[in-house]
Amino acid sequence: MSAPATAKQSRGLGVRCEELVHIYRTGDVDVVAVRGVDLVVQAGERVALLGPSGSGKSTLLGMLGGLIPPSAGRLWIGDEETGGLSERALLGLRAQRIGFVLQGAARNLLQYGTPIDNVRFAHRSVRRSARRDLMEPRELLDVVGLGQVADRPVPSLAGGEQQRVALAVAVANGPGLLLADEPTSQLDTAGRDAVLDLLDLVNERFGTTVIVVTHDAEVGARLGRTVSMRYGRVGNEGDRGQQYTVVGKDGSVHLPDDVVAEWPPGTHVLVERTDDGVHIRRRPT
Ligand code: ADP
Ligand code: MG
Repeated sequence: MSAPATAKQSRGLGVRCEELVHIYRTGDVDVVAVRGVDLVVQAGERVALLGPSGSGKSTLLGMLGGLIPPSAGRLWIGDEETGGLSERALLGLRAQRIGFVLQGAARNLLQYGTPIDNVRFAHRSVRRSARRDLMEPRELLDVVGLGQVADRPVPSLAGGEQQRVALAVAVANGPGLLLADEPTSQLDTAGRDAVLDLLDLVNERFGTTVIVVTHDAEVGARLGRTVSMRYGRVGNEGDRGQQYTVVGKDGSVHLPDDVVAEWPPGTHVLVERTDDGVHIRRRPT
């Protein structure tokens, strides 16, 4: 006899993308920000998205949350292929089942309200009859250590406090998918730990799939799986401390950073097949 489905299994929304591309068109210039990303994140998984500035992390995250339309490629959020959804259906999916923290805390908040107003507003967007498991707004703010400032005007809060309010707002709907863009960038260790605790809590309570863009290696380590981007492509993946290089569609590989430092672009390498595998070495000089 199989076990009954838990809330955890039913709520989490996985994402899957195939050759996802995004091109920003500004005047005469096209910027290819995401260049053919294939990625599968299972429901309930926790992933850190890493990479240098300008590598396409924010753009990919925006696409995964249905905020930025792909220029090419296919994307599934849960079982829905987003290309087949109307604008209205996509809006509904975002309001009911996705939580998003944009890069830059202030952009996420209604500045004329208080933290509690902001969280209540997000809380109300959910059909309450369908969800009896949501956390109360004050409880959420307590978890991120903001109980004391819940009734202050948002502009009077420090950047790090606004960041934590933004995360509380993003999880108020008990999302199946939480996407957070550098949610700890302005926080000290205690603030960062409060954020990571809340990520754990929603992951456990709702089965939320969590994808976080971060520069902080400790955030990556705590989430477990890391996906690294470079020049709009996923080049490396880490899983519990082990690093893997991902082979691209065209057969290209992103070498690890320390190898790139030794072998600058244009270096010739030999790829040799031997009895015990395939080896790469620098062309002898
Ligand atoms: P990251 O989050 O990794 O720093 P982004 O996704 O923000 O990367 O940006 C990827 C590339 O797309 C960069 O070259 C950036 O300059 C460009 N870009 C980002 N947003 C825009 C925009 N709104 N218009 C034009 N180019 C953009
Ligand atoms: Mg970014």
